[in-house]
Amino acid sequence: MSVRPTVCPSPAPDLAAYDLLAPQLSGGKDSSVMLWSFMRTASAAGVMDRVTTYHASLGTLEWPAVTCEGTTYPSVSQLAAAQSAAQGIPAHRHVEVARPFSLLAEIASYGRFPRLGSPYCRKYAKESIISSAWTPMVRELRRQLGRPVRILKVMGLRADESRDRADRPAYRNVLTNGARIVDEWMPVQDWPTAAVLEWHQDAPVPHHWTYDSHPGAGDWKGTSRCSCSLCVFASKRDLVLAVARRPRLADLYAEVEAVRGDTFRPDWRIAELIEASRRPSAPDPGIICADDGTDMDVLEQQVRRALQQRPRKSVHLAAAQRRSACDGCT
Ligand code: SF4
Repeated sequence: MSVRPTVCPSPAPDLAAYDLLAPQLSGGKDSSVMLWSFMRTASAAGVMDRVTTYHASLGTLEWPAVTCEGTTYPSVSQLAAAQSAAQGIPAHRHVEVARPFSLLAEIASYGRFPRLGSPYCRKYAKESIISSAWTPMVRELRRQLGRPVRILKVMGLRADESRDRADRPAYRNVLTNGARIVDEWMPVQDWPTAAVLEWHQDAPVPHHWTYDSHPGAGDWKGTSRCSCSLCVFASKRDLVLAVARRPRLADLYAEVEAVRGDTFRPDWRIAELIEASRRPSAPDPGIICADDGTDMDVLEQQVRRALQQRPRKSVHLAAAQRRSACDGCT
């Protein structure tokens, strides 16, 4: 397959060549360091006014805000907005997008959980919704410029996290058509995890509470990632911790699993993870989220309504782990 050219024929982009600079913020530790590093380059290039940050919210599925001993710790979405503001980006240039129909309801409706070979969750909940958010701007600018709009999508992915991310070119084209050229850049691809954690010691915005053994601990002994609380691509430790921290959400995943007959992962049922979280050897969750807001009620209604319909896809239980085509979201 031929490789489509990037806007700049160089290993890294010239930011001035783009009409829109679009860092994608997950609210996690890597997106924070990515934005800091990227904004230094944008400032040197004199193009800070072309930057708009984006957060594709997973709604109730992502880690919520919690209050612990009188202190409130922000949700993933709140943290993404704070990371953007901390780098001097005005509030109107931080855009949060979300699907009204939750990813878990989509999984229930589809009938199968995402797998390494078909990580449709990322496309459904993140990529396509951000791409749609660009469409009005692309239409307008395409007319004015008389050429395709050049967009640089800036990601916080790092080589340390997976083979797939290590093998991926740091700068590449992901879409070219008559209306837009979208290139992707990973400015912190070569940052080791230790360097990221060290940077966070003086970060302008504290890291998310889920990374810690309990909110406010600052010890990085919680989950290793921070996006969907129950990510089908997360490690077993992360998942055991997550189901203990969010029992009501875990029960809803278990309901989808039981009705559809597909397993949460090829190797673990969510029901097994719930059981594992109750063993004495399980990590202490540090906090248990009540998840008693109306957003959780709405999620349950959406999911149960979807489960009453026939699934769009027949279930094949994945038999074996295949090489990663997706390793989760940052
Ligand atoms: S966090 Fe995991 S489950 Fe959620 S959208 Fe990303 S890859 Fe899919």
